[in-house]
Amino acid sequence: STPATMVSGLAAAANNGALIKGGQYLEVLGSMKHLAFDKTGTLTEGKYRVNGIAMAKGKSEDDLLYWLASVESQSSHPIAWAITKLAKEKGIKIADQITNYTTLAGEGVRATVQGSEVVVGNIKVAARNGWSSSEVSSLRAQYESWERQGFTVCWVGVEGQALGVFSVADMVRPGTKALVTKLVKSRVKCWILTGDNEGAALKVASKLRLRADRVKSSLTPEDKYWHVSSLKEEEEAAGRCFKASGKVGMVGDGVNDAPALAGADVGIAMGAAGTPVAMETADVVLFSDNLQKLTDTISLAKLCRRKIL
Ligand code: ADP
Ligand code: MG
Repeated sequence: STPATMVSGLAAAANNGALIKGGQYLEVLGSMKHLAFDKTGTLTEGKYRVNGIAMAKGKSEDDLLYWLASVESQSSHPIAWAITKLAKEKGIKIADQITNYTTLAGEGVRATVQGSEVVVGNIKVAARNGWSSSEVSSLRAQYESWERQGFTVCWVGVEGQALGVFSVADMVRPGTKALVTKLVKSRVKCWILTGDNEGAALKVASKLRLRADRVKSSLTPEDKYWHVSSLKEEEEAAGRCFKASGKVGMVGDGVNDAPALAGADVGIAMGAAGTPVAMETADVVLFSDNLQKLTDTISLAKLCRRKIL
């Protein structure tokens, strides 16, 4: 590869809204065989709004929002923003004693609020905390129905008892459809790797016309990493037969994507709304959240490769 082409390629990419942290990544971008996408905040805007709330028998919505918003006031997850906004609109105050706040990676959040343990999260969290009693079977039915409709659904429990469930919705980012259409046309295999439920993941896949068998849901950060690693191993094994091996890229915005971003041949972070950890770990940072920037950067990388080869 000629240094001149590389330098002008990196400069052109920067002008176009992508910081590439080295010439080698320009090469990798131009020879990707797989590109894995995080869903929330990457393919979608990561701006959730609350769709519905369902209560366990005898519980009030204001009570649920009090416990829920108190825990979420400590979180920077897009779900947390939606909840704190709703609580504010409804004039629900936040507890003043919130301790032991913990994030459950890719699953939810937990804290002690006024001395009571409050847990919020996905079905795995629910299964571990008081999901089993028969009084909550109607909640479970609501949960599953929302999930089938493609919503992100969370369970709320206080002191091991289900208080209720709520669903939130998000929108696909502008530029996303054009990007994946172009990638699929140029034979790059597109994957969705998400911590969210299968229904929500499949809904985004169908909007983008991505194959359902390349959608992996309910993943932990480690699962995302292992998935990227296994694609790399496959490509490297194929590469030993065909001389050149295909590269694996990963695009993400969150702390939960950092291991996969580091493990990929090229990690790409969403700049404007992404987390600092993702940006530090990635090899490429997009300044804009419009994925059109990534389309342009990949085209540029291919142009550079052709001049080089
Ligand atoms: P993604 O991989 O799509 O970016 P995350 O790993 O951020 O998703 O989250 C996975 C799931 O964990 C969410 O869909 C949600 O069910 C649960 N979760 C994570 N953080 C929170 C939170 N602050 N409040 C409620 N649920 C959460
Ligand atoms: Mg995300």
